[in-house]
Amino acid sequence: MSKDYYEILGVSKDASDDEIKKAFRKLAIKYHPDKNRDDPKAAEGKFKEINEAYSVLSDKQKRAQYDQFGPEAFQNGAAGSGGFGQGGFGGFGQGGGFGQGDFGGFGDIFDTFFGGQGSRQTNGPERGADLRFDVDISFENAAFGVEMEIQVPKNETCDHCHGSGAEPGSKVDTCPICHGTGQQRVVQNTPFGQMVNVRTCSHCGGTGKIVHEKCKKCHGEGTLKIRKKLKIKIPAGVDDGARLRVAGEGEPGVRGGGHGDLYVYIYVRKNSHFERRGNDVLSEETITFAQAALGTTIRVDTLDGKVELKIPAGTQTGTSFRIKNRGVPYLQSEKRGDHYVRIQVSTPKHLNDKQRQILKEFAASCGEKWVGEPEKKDGFWDKIKKMIRTWFDRKCMIWGFNE
Ligand SMILES: [Zn+2]
Ligand SMILES: [Zn+2]
Repeated sequence: MSKDYYEILGVSKDASDDEIKKAFRKLAIKYHPDKNRDDPKAAEGKFKEINEAYSVLSDKQKRAQYDQFGPEAFQNGAAGSGGFGQGGFGGFGQGGGFGQGDFGGFGDIFDTFFGGQGSRQTNGPERGADLRFDVDISFENAAFGVEMEIQVPKNETCDHCHGSGAEPGSKVDTCPICHGTGQQRVVQNTPFGQMVNVRTCSHCGGTGKIVHEKCKKCHGEGTLKIRKKLKIKIPAGVDDGARLRVAGEGEPGVRGGGHGDLYVYIYVRKNSHFERRGNDVLSEETITFAQAALGTTIRVDTLDGKVELKIPAGTQTGTSFRIKNRGVPYLQSEKRGDHYVRIQVSTPKHLNDKQRQILKEFAASCGEKWVGEPEKKDGFWDKIKKMIRTWFDRKCMIWGFNE
């Protein structure tokens, strides 16, 4: 059963934070169990539902996650059976230059995106967000791997203030509201008893500090927008849709939290000559009717360049020949797939008289009764020509020119 949080709050998918807040307040008052004494159970269920929807949609990161993965991402921790099973996971762990990212499935990704279920606190160190970057590479580069430089637009901790947002040497006070903890405790009386809510301090924005002079370089943000140049190594054998994790290259964390990770999504461009099936490469070669009948050796394109392939006499069209170990390498292995060449026999076109005659003789030698072209029917001009000739012949006869 999937829940539509937007529907629960009665707002559109592109509702602003303000609209969401307003809708939540209205509904919370309406379904407050205190106000629904006749059916408090139903109201309580609805109230909880509204709260659940709001807790997700009011959080920027959670909302983005919800938009992408749906409510399953927020129910029962993480949805292990989610439709995340696209290939390409795992196996990159030891790949040179990459993090220890053996991600088994949705659950792990989920944890990475959220920094772990339940461990999120509003005031403690918070891990930076994960980033996604798409690259497309050629068929050959996917097969043999490639090192490339990418430029990832991201935020980076300001090197001038080291993320504090304060101009170095300027005065920084401890927040008088939260006394430096970055959080405010708000005690609320709810129908379910007293609840203590811990919120990010609104006075200092959770930093616990009051900056008097903002950093000149980042204007108090603590971060700078940069395009980070990164060298990435795409391992041999990757397939379309694979994801690589580059540990620590996501957004910087806050309050001392670590960096998020960068996920590089790999798209493999189509090749006009080769097709890939798993680790095997498929291609097609056309040979002549005579080559197919008599047998020959042709040179075929493979990932390793031209390779000689023996075509036995009597090869039928559609036959595939295997060239061993010329396919795509297996990830982190010396092993390679095979290359399959599918043979297409071309039928000769535009025969000249001599060739036609030879083929007729060939057919006759096979005991084939010639059933080729039917007797030519005379066209209009042929008829005229014939009439003229007959007339002319007759005239010649009369005049005695013949013989
Ligand atoms: Zn700065
Ligand atoms: Zn504060």
